[in-house]
Amino acid sequence: MGILEVQNVNKSFGGLKALQNVNLNIEEGTIHAIIGPNGAGKSTLLNCFVGKLVPDTGTVMFNGQSLLGIKPHEINQTGVSRVFQTPEIFTDLSVMENVLIPCFAKRDGAFKMNALNRVRNEVDIQEKAEQMLIDVNMIDKRDMIASSMSRGDKRRLEMAMCLAQDPKLLLLDEPTAGMARADTNNTIDLLSEIQDRRHITMAVIEHDMHVVFSLAQKISVLAQGTVIVEDLPENIKGHPKVQEAYLGG
Ligand code: ADP
Ligand code: MG
Repeated sequence: MGILEVQNVNKSFGGLKALQNVNLNIEEGTIHAIIGPNGAGKSTLLNCFVGKLVPDTGTVMFNGQSLLGIKPHEINQTGVSRVFQTPEIFTDLSVMENVLIPCFAKRDGAFKMNALNRVRNEVDIQEKAEQMLIDVNMIDKRDMIASSMSRGDKRRLEMAMCLAQDPKLLLLDEPTAGMARADTNNTIDLLSEIQDRRHITMAVIEHDMHVVFSLAQKISVLAQGTVIVEDLPENIKGHPKVQEAYLGG
């Protein structure tokens, strides 16, 4: 059984069928890439996993529990976390302070900015935040101001903030979009390190085939709202259906 099982999902926007009978099975502990041409429905599908959109028909099961009709913050509490295309970090705060905030939020169930003032008395929170920074190889940058970092390091920081929520499934929509090659490679290393250290399942939407083939253990190809192929990476390269989809044939 997969940690995320999607069956026969359909979603239309007015007359436009964005998703048609989509099936997807993501196995626990794997990195599963979702690829496909622009407008194929990848982001729409991801939005159905986090409660931002509700499918018209079909089922989305996470750990055997339906996610349909569940509010986004409740889905997040069950262990599904999303990483945004532009890292959502507090640019005026230090790296450490950025990670302390979600550590507090996870423990107290709510985000409180003034929690940062109490930090000296909160050894468990400090230790957790340090561990998150160690996991993303940023502990030596703990006192840097977030705005001064490279894009790749901002992505690392955002990932540490995400890990503070103890996710079981991480969803990433084009995590390397707009990045220079060095930051892209930094992000590839980061995601494989996190998988090695924490065995977190990841669903990654990605355009960059170098990223896809560096990371994915399974690939689903979406075209015009339908999964046309789900297979191992070695069977995706050169697959006639995939080539046809990308060439628009
Ligand atoms: P991808 O992420 O694969 O590029 P999307 O999921 O963003 O594709 O979009 C799939 C299709 O659905 C596109 O034709 C897009 O224009 C349309 N679409 C996406 N979101 C909406 C929306 N909120 N309202 C209307 N149409 C939408
Ligand atoms: Mg998209």
